[in-house]
Amino acid sequence: MSKKKKMLVANWKMNPGSLEKAREIFLAVRRAGAKVRNVETVICPPAIFLQPLGRLLRPEDGNLSLGAQNAFYDAGRTNHTGEISMEMIRDAGAEYLIIGHSERRKKGESDETVNIKLRAALEFSLTPILCVGEEARDGEGLYLSFVKNQIEKGLQGLSAREAAKVVIAYEPVFAIGKRADEAAKPDDVTEMVIFTRRVLSDLYTRAQKKGENSLNTPTVLYGGSVAPPNAAALLAAGVGGFLVGRESLRMEEFAEIQAILDVS
Ligand code: PEP
Repeated sequence: MSKKKKMLVANWKMNPGSLEKAREIFLAVRRAGAKVRNVETVICPPAIFLQPLGRLLRPEDGNLSLGAQNAFYDAGRTNHTGEISMEMIRDAGAEYLIIGHSERRKKGESDETVNIKLRAALEFSLTPILCVGEEARDGEGLYLSFVKNQIEKGLQGLSAREAAKVVIAYEPVFAIGKRADEAAKPDDVTEMVIFTRRVLSDLYTRAQKKGENSLNTPTVLYGGSVAPPNAAALLAAGVGGFLVGRESLRMEEFAEIQAILDVS
């Protein structure tokens, strides 16, 4: 059986400031990606850059794809000034969609909205990357029920087969946008990978008993200040790859992270 590829998702957030710079970074990633075999890299630029960057993808770039950072969920196409639909981002070349990032949750995106978006994404053949993660750690384990709730509400109504298509990104909010030594501790990441798998298997045990396809081992990514100095240790924590913010815009650092994933 072939080994599952590691995944590296680049969340460019609201960067860079021009298409010219976006092309430069994307071409650098494409060049670096040509040297790696075991990593699926997903670049999530601002939506306005999806189409022009998609034109730079060649048939030999099979391990490189595009994702969107957000999309609107109503296919009705009316009265949604300023929104971009899932259909549009799919048409622009996105194959993945980040859903429930903490920066969007902070702007008011609820678990219910996350769930609606997730189901809509699957309808439009987009692979959802569901972001979950606690704001802070506490001594009583409340963060576990917080993350469990985010997963359960996010996946509500999905069959085991649909849930198997969802990538889960564990991103503890306190670890996002910090220095490399302030990322989550590898032991804590291991705990959360095991915990996430447990929540998923509990959720879908009943479905599996009813004879639905069993849930394949879900891909669980870690995100939060991943950088070359901490990438190997975080990877050894048992994740299927990373969701990277800041370092995804630094071409050399991103290539280093990619190389660490490739040899794992
Ligand atoms: C993020 O915003 O999802 C993220 C992981 O950012 P950073 O890598 O900068 O912490």
